[in-house]
Amino acid sequence: MPPRRIVILTGAGVSAESGVPTFRGPDGLWEGHRVEDVATPQAFRRDPVLVQRFYDARRAALAAVQPNAAHRALARLDALWPGELLLVTQNVDDLHDRAGSARMLHMHGELKSAWCTACDRRHPWEGGLLDAPPCPACGLAGHLRPDIVWFGEMPYHMDRIEAALLAADLFVSIGTSGNVYPAAGFVDLARHAGARCIELNLDPSMTSGRFHDSRLGPAGALVPQLVDELLG
Ligand code: NAD
Repeated sequence: MPPRRIVILTGAGVSAESGVPTFRGPDGLWEGHRVEDVATPQAFRRDPVLVQRFYDARRAALAAVQPNAAHRALARLDALWPGELLLVTQNVDDLHDRAGSARMLHMHGELKSAWCTACDRRHPWEGGLLDAPPCPACGLAGHLRPDIVWFGEMPYHMDRIEAALLAADLFVSIGTSGNVYPAAGFVDLARHAGARCIELNLDPSMTSGRFHDSRLGPAGALVPQLVDELLG
């Protein structure tokens, strides 16, 4: 029987062909920085200037990149798939959004969002945060931080994601190394619940052995191929 309920997980690899560097590139760094220095709450407390500057640069760099064939194929699947579908991305870029995916959750937050730690509100954000702009809601300056889930913080939307994984009959993981939990454990949850599990990745990942089918290659080629298979 063809699958009806699909959950798709994407990671940094889906944006690599757009020119967005992955996280654990060949040097194990994120854009030249150790993750401990830019992606933890401790790093932000220790050196807020470095951390704000880092995310301001990542946010500004989005203007120079475009969705690629993999983002576009997933948006096509979203538009045409008659059953349930949820795209869960670990990515903080906005390339799935710009490609047109609608049934989508950013589990690790978004570069183009700012979170006020004074009033707890979140705001769409295009500019920088380094110069401590005031919060549009409460007016206090110096309390906006990148709306990014750092290591040690709780990913967003976990209740909805887990419910979708438990109900899925197909789980697809694309361009993720399987190093970062809880996302790396999604395959176990979906498989245990009876879903067929397919991985698309450039290289074997930490979790390849847990999938029924692991296909190696660039997302820009493998994702459109899988979407064509699914849409028949
Ligand atoms: P990762 O960088 O740890 O792993 C990327 C994976 O993608 C690797 O397994 C690699 O082999 C694969 N890959 C590289 N190029 C590919 C291609 N063209 N096609 C298919 N696969 C390819 O990424 P992760 O597992 O997503 O974990 C990184 C964390 O860092 C995430 O939580 C994310 O929030 C953050 N991050 C986000 C971005 C982004 O938003 N684009 C970029 C870097 C890091």
